[in-house]
Amino acid sequence: MTTKFWHPQALMSTVKNSEIVLVRGEGSHVWTDNGTKLFDATAGLWYANIGHGQRAVTEAVSKQMDELETFHTFGAFANPMAKDVCERIVGLAPMGPDASVFLVSGGSDAIDTAAKLARRYFTATGRPEKRVIVSRENAYHGLHGFGTALGWMEGNRAGYGDLDPDIIRASATDWSDVEKVFANTGPELIAAFFCEPIIGAGGAIFPGQEYLTKVRELCRQHDILFVADEVITGFGRTGTWFASERFNLDPDMITFAKGVTSGYLPLGGVVISPKVGAPFWDDGSEIPFKHGMTYSGHASCCAAAMANLDILENDGLLQRVTDLEKPLAEALNSLDDHPDVVQIRSGVGLIGGVVVSSPQLGARMEADLLERGVITRKIGDGSALQVSPPFVMTDDEMAWMVDQFRASLNAVS
Ligand code: PMP
Repeated sequence: MTTKFWHPQALMSTVKNSEIVLVRGEGSHVWTDNGTKLFDATAGLWYANIGHGQRAVTEAVSKQMDELETFHTFGAFANPMAKDVCERIVGLAPMGPDASVFLVSGGSDAIDTAAKLARRYFTATGRPEKRVIVSRENAYHGLHGFGTALGWMEGNRAGYGDLDPDIIRASATDWSDVEKVFANTGPELIAAFFCEPIIGAGGAIFPGQEYLTKVRELCRQHDILFVADEVITGFGRTGTWFASERFNLDPDMITFAKGVTSGYLPLGGVVISPKVGAPFWDDGSEIPFKHGMTYSGHASCCAAAMANLDILENDGLLQRVTDLEKPLAEALNSLDDHPDVVQIRSGVGLIGGVVVSSPQLGARMEADLLERGVITRKIGDGSALQVSPPFVMTDDEMAWMVDQFRASLNAVS
């Protein structure tokens, strides 16, 4: 019988007859309903940082559900888990002790929140003309309304008519283009610059420290809010809690999701600097932020986050990322001598891309690697294959994974 499950980002005419049904996970592996073991080279969609099947998370969630599954947090309502996780994240983020956290259910929610808050901040401080948002070529910021408009992968934008006209694009790697875009637009009209420190779905592209430093400085000069989209890079993927710390970004806001719970339950949010929070939090303020979702601050999701952060901390998993950074880059670079490998993108944490000579070859390799027991994914224009394993990947698993890439290249190219 044909499935009734409409898959996200899928061509249902094909997928309806070829679902891959997963029933179990442990560490860096998942199993299909017919018992096939697959290595998770992508950590799901860049989220399974602690790996699959960690019982401590199940127990923490179960305990919370026994006490209070959740209660909404509109107005004055709160729960201890939501308060604790916000306090903990402020402690981990490089924005000082007076930062705050707005909780939502995922990365796209977080992007909508940050985009609205950027504009709201400038209306609250008497500069409503500052409403343009600049995002970057190859950017991916989720697929809600704002995220679709902020993203620049054509396939994700096609067919929806005109998107937000006050969102414009700049180069993802050339800071002088960003400078030009700011000047041509008029910085007095620009509210925010949205920036993945490392572009993920757009192809595992690191713009380089110089780019990040320069655009950060340009934003500071023109009072443009710098929003670091750390939905992928947050919670350890580059070896520090946030890439903003590693690359010294001093962001006005950080969007996060994925790694905050390692995907065990849906949670996302925005870390907000004291500057952006002040018009809303200062004594005497009459300005509410009229935004939020039913599940903002969901107690059981926050319990999953707390247990996940415990595991990241207690098992030294950020250090593990740091330790694996170079070996992973070296192992992937060993593929570079293959004639169909165009580029290896690696060297920052556990984020890698194997770029092959065409999207068609990328597609063939994705399918072939699945046959060999490795889940990877085409990213960017389809010619890059994603490598972003769980932090718990062993040395042997890493070597085996890269062997499969080599075998696949030899088999299908
Ligand atoms: N921003 C970035 C950088 C992402 O990679 C993603 C998800 N891949 C999102 C936002 C959207 O997150 P979600 O899918 O949880 O809505």
